[in-house]
Amino acid sequence: MQIVVLAGGVGGSRFTAGVRRAYPDATVTIVGNTADDITIHGMRVCPDLDTLMYTLGGGGDAERGWGRLDESWRAIEELRAYGAEPTWFGLGDRDLGTHLVRTGMLAAGVPLSEVTARLCARWWAHDPGLRLLPMTDDPVETYVEIADAEAPGGRRSVHFQEYWVRLHAVPEALALTQVGIEAARPAPGVEEALLGADLVLVGPSNPVVSIGPILAVPGLRDAVRATPAPVLGFSGILHGAPVLGMAHRLLPTIGVAVDAAAVGRHYGARTGSGVLDAWVVDTGDAGSAAALTADGLPTLVHDLVMSTPDATAAFVRSAVDEVLESRGPR
Ligand code: GDP
Ligand code: CA
Repeated sequence: MQIVVLAGGVGGSRFTAGVRRAYPDATVTIVGNTADDITIHGMRVCPDLDTLMYTLGGGGDAERGWGRLDESWRAIEELRAYGAEPTWFGLGDRDLGTHLVRTGMLAAGVPLSEVTARLCARWWAHDPGLRLLPMTDDPVETYVEIADAEAPGGRRSVHFQEYWVRLHAVPEALALTQVGIEAARPAPGVEEALLGADLVLVGPSNPVVSIGPILAVPGLRDAVRATPAPVLGFSGILHGAPVLGMAHRLLPTIGVAVDAAAVGRHYGARTGSGVLDAWVVDTGDAGSAAALTADGLPTLVHDLVMSTPDATAAFVRSAVDEVLESRGPR
């Protein structure tokens, strides 16, 4: 069985760990978001790819949710001592190894997808059925426009990482831009994986800055719409709030309410102009399921708290079974 998962960082990793647990014999191809990427102190950092790689490889810090296990922070102290900006971005000593290897390979002309495969070879040697593809090899970076009384015109634009890590998503996000997205091409293998899939899962990752950019890479939304596989989406918004992260700060910026049903409608049904065959919401949001289903987006209700990989595996398996049963024998 060929499974494709669309994923951001922390939520995407937890979700994929559950998918892996649910389908240990399948080939799981993760299409990872790269619109959070940033160049810091000359190093190319891909936060979501690294979170996926470390978490699924057993090298991640589960409590923090990102970065390396048993991390230390000596190098960043040195940067601070030199007054080298920016100092707000967390760069652990062990994590630096990844960024240095990646940056060196990219500088030598190796595409990001190939770099990612080589980095993952270290972490995922135990699991040859797991594959991580960046959504694109082309650089894409998200910028957030925030209100700033001191800036000319009363607004200024900051990198998404600065918005999140330094500003903690406190300023209102007036607009979002994914610089480079129009010219981005799907990374090699991404469209093929989608078109050859038996199952496509849209993780509960941030709909605005994780799943949004993946679907915005020209060609990828069409590939999801064209896949012969059932496409299931899972809500990361439970009872009107994200379980973690800043989706509640950014959904309003794209005109979507902070609500599982609104996010489902935003993704939309494939029978219309959307990407989903089924939308899965938490038991706390069960009230919206009948109306969504009646409006053409079949909506399932499960306990979507990813407390453990087993809990995640359980809801993924039961939702998938429900969709496969409703499709009947093929
Ligand atoms: P990031 O790239 O590190 O910000 O992580 P993602 O975009 O992959 O995931 C963030 C999203 O995961 C948030 O919108 C959360 O609401 C969602 N999320 C985190 N934990 C859970 C959980 O236990 N259950 C569900 N359904 N969603 C979750
Ligand atoms: Ca991210």
